Amino acid sequence: MSIYTPIAKDGETRRVLALRSPIDLEPIGELVCANREDVQAAVARARAAQPGWAAKSFAERAEYMNRALKVLLARQDEIVDTVVRETGKARSDAMSMEIFAAADSLCYYAKNAQKFLRTRKERVHGLMGIAKQLRIVYRPLGVIGIITPWNGPFVLGMNPSVQALMAGNTVVLKGSEVTPYSTKLVEEIFREAGLPPGVLQVLMGDGQTGAHLTEAGVDKISFTGSVRTGRLIAETCGRQLIPCTLELGGKDAMIVCEDADLDRAAAGAIVGSCMNTGHYCCGTERIYVVEKVYDAFLAKVIEGARKLRQGNALGFEEDVGAVFWDKQLEIIEQHVEDAVAKGATIHVGGRRNPELKGLYYEPTVMSGVNHDMQIMRDETFGPVLCIQKVRDVEEALLLANDSPYGLNGNVWTRDKEKGFAIAARIDTGSVSVNDMAMSYGVPAAPFGGRKESGIGQVNGETGVRGYCHAMPILIDRFGGKELPSGYPYTQKKAEGMKKLMNFLWNTPVGRWLS
Ligand code: NAD
Repeated sequence: MSIYTPIAKDGETRRVLALRSPIDLEPIGELVCANREDVQAAVARARAAQPGWAAKSFAERAEYMNRALKVLLARQDEIVDTVVRETGKARSDAMSMEIFAAADSLCYYAKNAQKFLRTRKERVHGLMGIAKQLRIVYRPLGVIGIITPWNGPFVLGMNPSVQALMAGNTVVLKGSEVTPYSTKLVEEIFREAGLPPGVLQVLMGDGQTGAHLTEAGVDKISFTGSVRTGRLIAETCGRQLIPCTLELGGKDAMIVCEDADLDRAAAGAIVGSCMNTGHYCCGTERIYVVEKVYDAFLAKVIEGARKLRQGNALGFEEDVGAVFWDKQLEIIEQHVEDAVAKGATIHVGGRRNPELKGLYYEPTVMSGVNHDMQIMRDETFGPVLCIQKVRDVEEALLLANDSPYGLNGNVWTRDKEKGFAIAARIDTGSVSVNDMAMSYGVPAAPFGGRKESGIGQVNGETGVRGYCHAMPILIDRFGGKELPSGYPYTQKKAEGMKKLMNFLWNTPVGRWLS
């Protein structure tokens, strides 16, 4: 539901938004935004449900996830229909990004959460290790507030929720006002799977509803969205001294080396920039190609992009869907206009699709871009490939790192060790070699941005542990009446301590022991 306008209703204390589909701009419903009292009531229900949920075993919690997985698979067409109607994304994008990724998440965390959160024994170093045993227990934080954007409205709600739930928390999830019904389906799937009441609730609402959630007494905010909102949320969480993870925007760089497989790299550039209509946080937004292969690469990209199919039949035979939101369309147009005014060349697209009534922007290929242009600095979030010629890999690295963002990136070379070495020099959250945009889809890879792309990491062991407090419990092995460090303090004990320090850190045997 890409376009919304506020509607005033008599006696209604809640904001009401009218929604239209980006596919044909026809009305598709209204969104009544949860107000402060609604949010507080949801958090109170979640708080009441949390001890009972945390008391369940991992196997019991996993069983709910496995049932949710079955419901998801059975209802996948309906979910895809809702997501496509609300976002306008290509049906294949909805299938792979929303259904496949959500199913993978449910299965992976049902299987692995117990292993990640098992009580750990850690060796205590030095002489203290003789007397003390250390165990680390992962305790759920309590109630998690999850706030999500519109570009992956089902999976970006499902994936963090599964991790928080498997760790023993309850969840209050608030999806975007642009796509509320796709996120609401997360609640429906879990309800049908028999999840106890209050364990996962989805709030319908806008930014104001999200702001209420951040102040409703939750124990952590897990946020995915823009840098601007991320800063506001970090401030609110900081004031309350509660943790947050911020998964924010990106301006991912692609580096094409002279020994790259150009067919594969060109295909990667096209799908990396156009999948999900370019509304992908790890989408390829800047492409740096070394001059030796620049012409050949550009020709392949132009040829491939011309073949992309855009339409509103909503079947699996279309490649690039609609822009999900009218405001995003304005940003894309502005970035392209600015680039052209500063000398960029458009080879393919560069305009709204004149054949289609909805918010369709043609897949676009541009060259002659540089870092004076908005399109190489700010997040465009559209189906646009921006290709810049560079002398060599060193220049590509300088440009790749010349960005306030650092979420993802990709490197293309036939030499995978060289690819690894280049990848490790990009100041970013994660990198793929000879593939693109994979990192969020690989749960074992901790995912999170650097610089303005965010704080903290989600997914895998790191992600699940992030919904817990790692609580060290130190156990004395032998007991005994006298505490070596206890009162009374005496001169003799101080002398003993000095001798011990001298032995530990001033003699080879002591250094070895400590
Ligand atoms: P947004 O920040 O406008 O909105 C995100 C969510 O925050 C929505 O649910 C919105 O209602 C809510 N919100 C708005 N104001 C709020 C406030 N003051 N307090 C609390 N909640 C508030 O972002 P968007 O336009 O929906 O999403 C697009 C952005 O998300 C892009 O920048 C994209 O790169 C980013 N994104 C990042 C990732 C990632 O994993 N790093 C994934 C997907 C999208």
